[in-house]
Amino acid sequence: MPRKYPLDRTRNFGIIAHIDAGKTTVSERVLFYTGVSHKIGEVHEGDTVMDWMEQERERGITITSAATTAFWTPTYKKGDKNFECQLNLIDTPGHIDFTVEVKRSMRVLDGAVVVFDGVAGVEPQSETNWRYADDYKVPRICFVNKLDRMGASFEKSFGSIRDRLTQNAIPLQLPIGAEGNFSGVIDLLEMKAYEFQGDHGENIIEIPIPEDMKDEAKTAHHKLVEKIVENDDTMTEKYLGGDENFSVEDLKRVLRKATIANTIVPVFCGSALKNKGVQFVLNGVVEYLPSPMDLPPIHGKNPETEEEMTRPVDDAQPLAALAFKIATDPYIGSLAYFRNYTGTLKKGSYILNVTKNTQERVGRLVRMHANKREEVDEVYAGEIAAIVGLKNTTTGDSLSAPEAPMVLESIVFPEPVIGVRIEPKTKADQEKMGLALHRLAEEDPTFRVAGDIETGETIISGMGELHLEIIVDRMKREFGVEANVGRPQVAYRETINAEAEAEGKYIKQSGGRGQYGHAKIKMKPLERGTGFEFIDAVKGGSIPREFIPAVEKGIKEALTKGIQAHYQVVDVQVTLYDGSFHEVDSSEMAFKIAGSMAFQEGAKRAKPVILEPIMKIQVAIPPEFLGEVTGDLNSKMGRIENIDDRPNAKIIDAKVPLAEMFGYATQLRSMTQGRGSFTMEFDRYEIVPTNIAAQIIEGKRR
Ligand code: GDP
Repeated sequence: MPRKYPLDRTRNFGIIAHIDAGKTTVSERVLFYTGVSHKIGEVHEGDTVMDWMEQERERGITITSAATTAFWTPTYKKGDKNFECQLNLIDTPGHIDFTVEVKRSMRVLDGAVVVFDGVAGVEPQSETNWRYADDYKVPRICFVNKLDRMGASFEKSFGSIRDRLTQNAIPLQLPIGAEGNFSGVIDLLEMKAYEFQGDHGENIIEIPIPEDMKDEAKTAHHKLVEKIVENDDTMTEKYLGGDENFSVEDLKRVLRKATIANTIVPVFCGSALKNKGVQFVLNGVVEYLPSPMDLPPIHGKNPETEEEMTRPVDDAQPLAALAFKIATDPYIGSLAYFRNYTGTLKKGSYILNVTKNTQERVGRLVRMHANKREEVDEVYAGEIAAIVGLKNTTTGDSLSAPEAPMVLESIVFPEPVIGVRIEPKTKADQEKMGLALHRLAEEDPTFRVAGDIETGETIISGMGELHLEIIVDRMKREFGVEANVGRPQVAYRETINAEAEAEGKYIKQSGGRGQYGHAKIKMKPLERGTGFEFIDAVKGGSIPREFIPAVEKGIKEALTKGIQAHYQVVDVQVTLYDGSFHEVDSSEMAFKIAGSMAFQEGAKRAKPVILEPIMKIQVAIPPEFLGEVTGDLNSKMGRIENIDDRPNAKIIDAKVPLAEMFGYATQLRSMTQGRGSFTMEFDRYEIVPTNIAAQIIEGKRR
């Protein structure tokens, strides 16, 4: 079966926004106008099509990152099938605990629509998400939403985008009227004005540009043309020669090129709630955001030789895909969402999970629409879909044609920083809890489970309090497991601050078969964030090859037990350089124990230290509270890095230990009469001072 939509008519894009800017409402309108859903659901009623998880409905936030397929023909080509495009909308959440979801989706989307609240303009999370998009070089268009609201200003919002996000932003439209009188938009490329009529703004009516806006529109048109022209040599020449007569087609062509190259960010405007302007944003997605064909060939490595390799985006190439989300669907089981970078994936074929080095059979393939799934036989290059029932695939794994393996760059996830102890309520819960936690951890790479369920010492950790609350909630709803939950605690880490050598000997020779394992190791600290490195430097067979992995395993086990407290040990390099063995008594088990003993012994002498997560926070408050709020941050051992002046607001950027941040939302509220707000994200792990380390070791600091 040939593909229905040529690659240049495919768009993989996401909508990103600060929470409450209107991302869900915009997505809803997108689904409505593209005909996927036939009724417009309002967010506050909790019935939107995208937010399909129950918690999301209740909390009104979007957590998962499912991909939804829809179809769109630009409004000026309405009804012409030759211009119909396949849009894969990748859902990205706005809540701070889930920025990881934003990051993960950046990896697989080709372009993004960034939504802003027309009253607030750029908000802290818009900045965070903008930077993630910068990291992955994602081309963007902006949509200044909510222009119907009291206090909305396109000019100010646009100004905040230019000042705080990018000088490359340029309006493509101007709003007609403001607040309650906001009625339509002027298209600055075509120099035409439009209004939206019908119950849901589905009828777009051209109107004359209002008399009192003609000059403003002309000036803005001029600026836009100038900005576009800068991006094309022939146009620049013509322009400098005094000829400003460019066709709309030519301007669009260069604007597309510039948007894809990230040298221009087109800005649209409207009101999703009042059904104004969203169709033009969809036109913009098609006209200016890249298709998979516009991107450079995909990049990866040969897993055996580690050699860099590239492959063009083409259905006839061997498959190279990336699993970017694992979800459990109550009806069909495990779903692995993947981005097919190149090649064709066929139902019934075998694929190689290159990351895990296992083959899996592709039983069923589904494309997810907002409210239904469609079974498909083939998924082509550049598309996004899901495989049903893969057993060994987790988030970030590379999937390849078995005969042509290629490892794609995986997604780097932040380490979980908050933990809670959980305990099954009953014996029956205990039995099911292990499975439930295992499943949830498979879906979510930022969620970890440690400890032992039987002894009631299970600790789950994640990105924030809300993240863990939702996990516990899902455990109850989806798996029927009830648990008692402790107070949230900081996920401290341990590491060493000096080099050391040590040996571990495990010898048992009384009665029965003996045990003999002996390992000599050196250890040294590594840079923050490196994790664990094991180097095998054994020469002359002092330890037989087959026992070396056992030593490494033993050391890894010791890392999970901690050195001074019981926290995970990180950022250590261990070199195994010598040891000895016994012809009969040596076993994997004995070498594992020897490795673990050696590490535990050496780490104590390697100046062990405790690491704590430091959070990057941004607090927005009315100016009169500045003194009290900064004073409080100082008392929390916070380092204030910047204080920004905004109209009627101060924005404080600071770094604060996570341990000091519990309950901050309530504290800030009472300090500012409910008018302050803040966002927080993990920055890095830092060594804690010795007096505090002592408290942590004694369990006196959470
Ligand atoms: P999200 O958190 O970014 O997904 O934002 P939502 O779409 O949930 O919107 C947050 C709130 O803003 C909801 O109460 C929406 O009804 C409201 N909202 C969204 N778009 C508009 C708009 O264009 N105008 C107005 N006045 N309100 C809007």
